[in-house]
Amino acid sequence: MSEDQKFWQRKTLGEMTKTEWESLCDGCGRCCLHKLRDEDTEELSFTNVACRLLDVTTGRCTDYANRRRKIPDCVHLTPAKLAEVDWLPPSCAYRLLGEGKELYDWHPLISGRAESVAEAGIAVNGRALSERDAGPLEHHIVDWPGQMPKRRPRQGGRQHP
Ligand code: SF4
Repeated sequence: MSEDQKFWQRKTLGEMTKTEWESLCDGCGRCCLHKLRDEDTEELSFTNVACRLLDVTTGRCTDYANRRRKIPDCVHLTPAKLAEVDWLPPSCAYRLLGEGKELYDWHPLISGRAESVAEAGIAVNGRALSERDAGPLEHHIVDWPGQMPKRRPRQGGRQHP
């Protein structure tokens, strides 16, 4: 194994430190959008309605430290839990690495800039609305959280297919 490899290339998800694991989150906010699952078919639909703790302009949780106390169904993602969830967006670093894929060049660990996530069209900023204002989730079903954006990001790492 090359010394030049980054921790996410050298280690399995289960081998990472807590700090390394946390740094994989690009802050896109897509996992904070509500999903609907059809009771009969189990089919998953994404909505553009965000958890009430999400700041929909920045895509950041407004109370990350207390989120699970305030929102009991906020999932604590762990390597073991990753195998159980089927709703992480295709851009999510945990899903990508869990599927043996590379991070994209807009990921802050590669770009060195948190802004590159919004610039690449990954962040929810400006496209989501808070559950406080949304009304019935059925009125807000959208496809984009489950898709990669068409726009190609900057040079230098893995790019969108
Ligand atoms: S979808 Fe993945 S990368 Fe984006 S905020 Fe959620 S955990 Fe972080």
